[in-house]
Amino acid sequence: MKSVNYDLVIIGGGPAGLTAGLYAARARLNVILVEKVVPGGRVLTADRIENYPGFPEGINGADLVEKMTAQVKQFDLSIENNEVISLDLSEQVKKIKLSDRIITSCAIIVATGVSPRKLGVPGEDSFYGKGISFCATCDAPFFSDRIVAAVGGGDTAVQESLFLTKFARKVYLIHRRDQLRATGILRERALANDKIEFIWDSVVTSINGLTNVEKITVKNVKTGDTKELAVDGCFVWIGIVPNNEFIENAVKLDENGFMITDSKMETSVPGVFGAGDVRSTPLRQVATAVGDAATAAFSAEQYIEKVKK
Ligand code: NAP
Repeated sequence: MKSVNYDLVIIGGGPAGLTAGLYAARARLNVILVEKVVPGGRVLTADRIENYPGFPEGINGADLVEKMTAQVKQFDLSIENNEVISLDLSEQVKKIKLSDRIITSCAIIVATGVSPRKLGVPGEDSFYGKGISFCATCDAPFFSDRIVAAVGGGDTAVQESLFLTKFARKVYLIHRRDQLRATGILRERALANDKIEFIWDSVVTSINGLTNVEKITVKNVKTGDTKELAVDGCFVWIGIVPNNEFIENAVKLDENGFMITDSKMETSVPGVFGAGDVRSTPLRQVATAVGDAATAAFSAEQYIEKVKK
């Protein structure tokens, strides 16, 4: 194989990227982790994670990331703040175009996670930061004793709505069906919380106000009726989209744009691996992300050994 800058480039510094970094650094690979913003990813916005083993009291997302980052630092993992613009995977030596230079590597692990899906309704973009939010941990304190809406019916919407009730006077939870997708324990807690009023079978069609959100228009999808709700804020939690624009179609993606991997976490391109929420997977948890990443790093190490012979 031609000479390369790195054995392995890990893209993304959430729980999956940090775990891949931990394994790769301990395997003494020549590895770099490239992270666009700060290590952590979406888990930074989680107020309390109750289903990651080893923390019987639960753990705050930012605290968990701090521990994971401290752990990789013990093994001298290089972390660079930079943005990956594109990948050239046409040859065995992979080229990674960063914002300021091109680096080469034997193998790549993509662990870039996901971003919140937008509603795509009038007012959503213009009121972002003025009442529209995707993060309760970041913004809930601004809504002390206020009335807010939350849109969605999955784990994120329900868990974050429960967190909102610690601050807000009332939370309208607006869901497009009459049953929540969220897991049982979250469903039970939300249905028992008298600060949450459910608005079933409904979607938000517009967000309105002068300088800040003042009201939202909600349409019942069964009857077609619309009504306005006076709210001070609207939190949007209607799912996720993968952060992999830089991949374009260089590896096979599923119908929703998530990277398809095999049981070794390898994509359709040999030497390119996916781990965590960005890959096509039935379950997206911190526990599954770190498991994926351990497998991906192990597989990458085997791949590197093979091609460097
Ligand atoms: P999700 O599970 O995909 O749920 C999205 C919710 O939004 C669904 O209820 C969906 O309705 C609704 N929705 C989708 N598009 C919509 C639209 N255009 N308008 C209105 N509603 C719409 O997404 P998520 O809750 O963000 O969770 C993502 C992943 O992270 C999941 O795997 C989840 O389990 C995981 N997660 C886990 C935890 C935890 O373990 N505590 C916490 C957060 C997230 P339908 O139900 O009708 O499809």
